[in-house]
Amino acid sequence: MNEKKALVCGAGGFIGSHLVKRLKRDGYWVRGVDLKFPEFSGTEADEFLIQDLREQKNCESSVITPDGNPFDEVYQLAADMGGMGFIDSAECEIMHNSCLINIHMVHACATRGIKRYLFSSSACVYRDMEPNEPELSEEDAYPALPDNEYGWEKLYAERMSMAYGRRFGMVVRLARFQNTYGPEGTWQGGREKAPAALSRKIAEVEDGGIIEIWGDGTAMRAYTYIDDLLDGIILLMHSDLENGVNIGRQEYVSVNELVEVIADASGKAVHIKHIDGPVGVKARNFRTDRIRTIGWESKISLREGISRTYPWVKAQMEANRKSE
Ligand code: NAD
Repeated sequence: MNEKKALVCGAGGFIGSHLVKRLKRDGYWVRGVDLKFPEFSGTEADEFLIQDLREQKNCESSVITPDGNPFDEVYQLAADMGGMGFIDSAECEIMHNSCLINIHMVHACATRGIKRYLFSSSACVYRDMEPNEPELSEEDAYPALPDNEYGWEKLYAERMSMAYGRRFGMVVRLARFQNTYGPEGTWQGGREKAPAALSRKIAEVEDGGIIEIWGDGTAMRAYTYIDDLLDGIILLMHSDLENGVNIGRQEYVSVNELVEVIADASGKAVHIKHIDGPVGVKARNFRTDRIRTIGWESKISLREGISRTYPWVKAQMEANRKSE
C-alpha cells in the first residue's frame, strides 16, 4: 500500500523505457506516458498512457495517480529529440515541441502538489570547446552560449523548472546528461546518435569495407552507458543537490577512435571515408564532482558498453533485413 509512485514522461523512448524497468525493479508503482509505446520491448509500467504532452490538459491528468493523489516523483524525459543530424535540421520542432511539453508539465506538477521533479537536461547547455580544454563545471553553463537550439531550449526549461520549484516548494533536480547509448536506443531513421549510427554502418559493411562519417572525425566526445546514467538519475532524484548536475563518463574519444572501438567489437577491419555533414561541437568535457559527492561512479567503460550495444544493433539490422 505504501509503495512509492513514479511518473515517467517519455517512457516510450530510449532512456525513459529503461528508467521504467529500473523503477519497477526498485519497487515503485510506475505510470509511463508518451506518444508511443517503447519500440523494441514491451513496457514494464503498471500503466501506460498514450498522450501528447504538448497539451496542458494531458499533463494535468497524467500527474495524478489512479487513487487521486499527486505522484511522489515525476521524471520528465519527454522531448522531441535526436542525434546531430536531427538537432541540425529540426531546430524549430525541437524548440516548439519540447518547450511546450516542459512548460505544461512543470506547471502541472507544481500546481498539483508533486513533491519531486527531475528534468532531463543535457551537456548541450555548454558552449563549444577546444579538444584539450579543461573540463567545464556546472556553473560554466553561464554566461550561456549553447552551440545549438536544443541546448538553449534545455537551458530555458532548467530555469523554468527552478522558478516553479522556488514558487511552489517543489523539489527540482536538473540532470545534465552526457551522450548516452546502449541497447534499445534508436539505431536508424535519422534520430540515431553516433554510437548506434556507427554500429549500424559497421554491421552493414563487409570485413575490410568502407563507412562514411560526417566531418574529419577529430571531434572529441564522451559516451555514457545507459546503466550508469540510470544510477545517476536515481541518486540525483533522491539527493539534496540543487541546480544543474552533470551525469556522464569522463572517457574521451574522437569520432575516429569510436569507430575503432566499434570495429573491434564487430571483429571487422573498417576504413573511414570522411564526408561533409553536421558535426556539432569540437569537444565537450565536463566535470562530475557534484554527482560524485552523492556516491555516483561510472562503472561501464566505452569498450564494455559497445560490446553490449553493437550485437544488439546488428541483431536489429539482421531482423529487419529478413522481414524485408
Ligand atoms: P527518445 O527520443 O528516445 O525519448 C523521448 C521520448 O519523448 C520519445 O519516446 C518521444 O515519443 C517522447 N515524446 C516526444 N514528444 C512527445 C509529446 N509531445 N508527448 C509525449 N511524449 C513525447 O530520447 P532519449 O534519448 O530517451 O532522451 C530522453 C531525454 O534525455 C530527453 O529529454 C533528451 O533530451 C535527454 N537527453 C538525452 C541524451 C542522450 O544521449 N540520449 C543526452 C542528453 C539529454
